Order: sequence, then structure tokens, then C-alpha cells
Amino acid sequence: MENLEFKCFTETTSLAEHLEMMKIHWDCADLVQSCTKQISEIVLESPFDTHLHLRDWEMLKAVAPSSATTFAGWIIMPNLAPAIETLEQVISYKWRIMEAIDWENFTPYMTINFRSDYTREFLKKIKPHIIWIKMYPKWQTTNSEGWVDWANIEEYRNTLTYMQELWIPLLVHWERIDGWYKIDELDKERKFAPIYEKLAQEFPKLKIIMEHVSTKECIELIDKYPNLYATVTLHHLLLIHNDIVSMWIQPHHFFKPIAKLWEDRKAILKYVLSGNPKIMLGTDSAPHEVGKKECACWCAWAFTAPIALQALIQIFESFWQLDNLHKFASENAKKNYEIDLPQKNVKFIKKDFEVSDKKELPYDYFINPNVRKELITPAKLFLWWKKLAWDLKGKNLPWTI
Ligand SMILES: [Zn+2]
Ligand SMILES: [Zn+2]
Repeated sequence: MENLEFKCFTETTSLAEHLEMMKIHWDCADLVQSCTKQISEIVLESPFDTHLHLRDWEMLKAVAPSSATTFAGWIIMPNLAPAIETLEQVISYKWRIMEAIDWENFTPYMTINFRSDYTREFLKKIKPHIIWIKMYPKWQTTNSEGWVDWANIEEYRNTLTYMQELWIPLLVHWERIDGWYKIDELDKERKFAPIYEKLAQEFPKLKIIMEHVSTKECIELIDKYPNLYATVTLHHLLLIHNDIVSMWIQPHHFFKPIAKLWEDRKAILKYVLSGNPKIMLGTDSAPHEVGKKECACWCAWAFTAPIALQALIQIFESFWQLDNLHKFASENAKKNYEIDLPQKNVKFIKKDFEVSDKKELPYDYFINPNVRKELITPAKLFLWWKKLAWDLKGKNLPWTI
């Protein structure tokens, strides 16, 4: 393992190699080795992804089945074009999702896009059909042109007040974009922390979820405010900024919020690995067409859902915290959102596999072969070239049975 410290994420061939590198650079002395037993099989009970993008139509059909394989439920993001903002849109999108996964034992929880002109009556009517309302900053995510601008927070007071009264939680993609040309990409989330503190103080009964947290400053705020929670992605647990830009630049490692600094990842890892009850898995898995990702001008975001749990088992095992994985991947979300998920036990076995090796089908293993390639070709999965140590037990995809 000589020269290991000089390898960025793109250069490592296995997840194990990357995790070893993280451990060498991270003083782990203060991490209690709570689970050191060697196991070869693990069963996760009703895993839940609290943040997923499935897109729509052919892309939805192509990626939904493999994104559902290892989970019992998801929270679905509303950033379609146009965004989901009405009851009719919620009902018909949910129907298309259930069709795409062939009505299997599975629950998609729906969300709508935040608007400042929602009335109390509208929110009351739509509440039984949604779990959250999602707030995106302008320009900061796919299809978010023309959305919330934080420079004028007062404009949103009415909707936030109704949400607080009706117990509808608020999801926020936390990045500051006003004066964007002066704020470095690495600082956009950090600079949002004061706005977020203001929200937590002014709406103390509103459950506020910081989505895909990527900075030390934000994750630490969950200890300061009882109404603040966080979701964390697989990719923010693994990558830092240097992995993205130091040696080889790779489109599948480019996502928003961009991976941050060493201290940020260390703080996030510590909170997640400890099973902190206010932190939940939200993969933010977001497929793109190959022509928009593997090209000269890449879109941000990573497609991770089909292999997220396999990689997470390896991370928790590697840092001796397997006992806490179930809290992060299911239990915390069920408690925090007070929901019941379908009973679904997902079995994994310790068995090396390379994500790109799964080529026993004419089409990529994780993509529904019933969707015609000329209609849609999703870009490759995050970790495509890496060897993982845990695999699903049996052939669980509908087209491999
Ligand atoms: Zn986001
Ligand atoms: Zn997202």
C-alpha cells in the first residue's frame, strides 16, 4: 500500500482501498470499535431512502426497478419539469412510479415543490398525499430555474407558518446563491448556516431537514436546534474536494453540493457512524442521460441508489460500526417521520463484485432491459469501476429472476 496517500478516489480500484486510505489519514483513535465481529451475511429490515430522484417517463421506467430493489420505500423529489406542485400532479406521478416498479410491495412518499403562494386550504387538502415540502434555491439543482431566492426570505413566511401549523416538514437544499459570483462553490452551504439558524429559531415547531449535508458547520447545528435534522448521501461520506479535482476529473464524481474538505467529511462520518438519531440516509441518487453526463459539459449529481446499501455496509463494517447501520438506513427516518414502511428484509452477502462486471445481460445490469436503448440510456452508476465487498443475495432484479 505504498504511495496510498497519493491516490485520489478516481485512481483506487476498490472501495476497500479507498476506505483504507481514509482510515490512514483519519485519526481513528477516538472512534469506539463497537462492532468488530466478522460476518458474511447481513439482513437489513425495510431500508428507506429519504431522498431520491427518479425523473419521469422512459428514465423513470429504466431506473426505478433497480432503485427499488434494496429499499422498502423512498421519498421522491418533485423537481420534474414542470415541478410537482398540485394534487393532480402528485397522484399521477405516484401512479407512474408504481407502474414503473410493477406495483411491488413498496411505498413511494411524495413531496411537492415549495411555493410562497400556497394557501392554508391547499396545504390542508394535499397533506394526506405528501410527506414533505421541498425548497430548492434558484439555479442550484436540475430544473430549479426560477425557484426560491433566499435574498428575500420574508416572502416565504406565510407558507412556512401554515406548514408549521399543519405539521408538514420542510426539506431544504442548503446552499447560498445570492451574490453567487462572489461565493466559492466550497462555501455555498457554509454560508447558508445563518439563514438556516434563523429559520429554526423563528419556526421552532417546524421540522426542518437539511438535505445532503456536506459541511461541518451544518451537521453540527443538529445539536443546537431540536427542530433540525439532516440527511447524508453515500457520495458525501466517501469523497472530498481533492478526490474530484486533484488528479483525474470524472463526471460521475461531480455532484451538488460539491464534496467539501477533509474536516467536513470527518465530522459527517462521525455523526453518521454513531447512528445519531437525527441523521438519515438520503442517497440523492439522480440519473442523467448519458449524453448529459459523459460528455464535454457535465450535469452534476450521481446515480447511486442500486448500489448504495452495498457500499454503506462496507463503510460501516470498515469503521467497526455495523450495529449502527440500521438506524441510519431505516430506523431514524421511521421515527422522525412517524411512518410505517412495508416489511421487506433485504439480504446481502460478503462477496466481491465489480459494479461494471455485472454484464450478464445485453443491457447494463441495473437498467430495465424493457426500456429501449434508443429512447433512453442512463449514464453509468457511481462506483462503476470499483470493486465492492458486499453484494445482494440472489438475483433480485425483476429481469434476472
Ligand atoms: Zn439537492
Ligand atoms: Zn436531490
